[in-house]
Amino acid sequence: MTTVMSKIELTPLPYGYKDLEPYISEQTLVYHHDKHMAAYVNKTLELIANTSYADASLEQIMLSADGALFNNAAQVWNHRFYFEQLSPSPKTKPDGALLEAINASFGSVKKMRELMTADALSLFGSGWVWLVSDAHGKLKIVSKPNAGNPLTEGLYPLLAIDVWEHAYYIDYRNARVAGVNALWKVVDWKVIEQRYADILEYIKQHA
Ligand code: MN
Repeated sequence: MTTVMSKIELTPLPYGYKDLEPYISEQTLVYHHDKHMAAYVNKTLELIANTSYADASLEQIMLSADGALFNNAAQVWNHRFYFEQLSPSPKTKPDGALLEAINASFGSVKKMRELMTADALSLFGSGWVWLVSDAHGKLKIVSKPNAGNPLTEGLYPLLAIDVWEHAYYIDYRNARVAGVNALWKVVDWKVIEQRYADILEYIKQHA
């Protein structure tokens, strides 16, 4: 949400490096978090030093910068969001308002997963596939190349699939479909439900 002001820092994983095995290996998490995400954090800090962005939040930078600064800042945000939605003991399906919204937009949870997976497979090159809420709480799926993030279009992210090869290549090599199918095993729907509840509350307060 645009009112959130996140610090530019390497937030720790909310679980251990081995905890998502066998779906995501320790080696993948070490590289993905400690190397790739860390590099985006360091590059963002380097780019904003002694500029007008020096004290800006991640969201402020994402909503106004472009080029290398946007790319690195958005990748920090995207990775934090991605890692925080995963759990070694996930709630395996959504309930309540989120389930109703998924059914209204896609027919079923199964259909929504199929559509997101298909978008992840057809996205050419690197990028992200997002489950988002619009400003009325209606859900849709959007694909973004590179560091793309739906916040820049006034949409609220609920769930992210990282389609960069670094997210799956160690474990699944070129088999992106295997990486995406493994990811679904560790998505914690409790986190997605809470995100949706927060978005609905935000919409209500700003109506
Ligand atoms: Mn990544």
